[in-house]
Amino acid sequence: MDEGFRFKVILLGQGAVGKSSLLLRYVENKFSLRHISTIQASFQSKTIEVDGRQVELSIWDTAGQEKYHALGPIYYRGSQGALLLFDITDSRSFEKVKTWVKELQRVLGDSCALMIVGNKLDLEKERTVTEQEARSYAETVNAQYMETSAKENLGISQVFDRLAEEMIRMA
Ligand code: GDP
Repeated sequence: MDEGFRFKVILLGQGAVGKSSLLLRYVENKFSLRHISTIQASFQSKTIEVDGRQVELSIWDTAGQEKYHALGPIYYRGSQGALLLFDITDSRSFEKVKTWVKELQRVLGDSCALMIVGNKLDLEKERTVTEQEARSYAETVNAQYMETSAKENLGISQVFDRLAEEMIRMA
């Protein structure tokens, strides 16, 4: 019998880019305009089906610890996938993604599937990071790139489906 897959996925990104919102939208289909502050590292599970196979994702949120640079190998360890989020209206948050990518590749090598996500697509008019720029960068580090809106529920499940496909391919 096919036993399916179980993967650990970590969320990384500057504070307020929408990590908790993305997770809340994905797991419970809810959205809040307030900043959701996670008190401690937390994870949520969701089981999806990819190409007829069960995939159990445990998705870890950073709990705002990124502010204190307190994340370390304990958080990264054992993860098969990483979602690196930025806010398309905030160039600094995009630069921050580049820092996380370097850190992840240093700690985990090439064993972790990388998905870079430009969030807040509903704020397209205020965009300061172009899709082209983000996509070109993603290619250079062997990551995938997608855009989402946790607010409008755009692209979220597609992000996890694509990442799951990649993790299966690398398993
Ligand atoms: P985190 O610190 O990265 O976990 O960010 P949060 O999930 O707490 O979100 C920070 C703020 O951005 C909150 O006010 C959210 O309501 C807002 N937010 C999150 N995702 C979106 C989105 O897709 N569009 C818009 N317009 N706001 C968002």
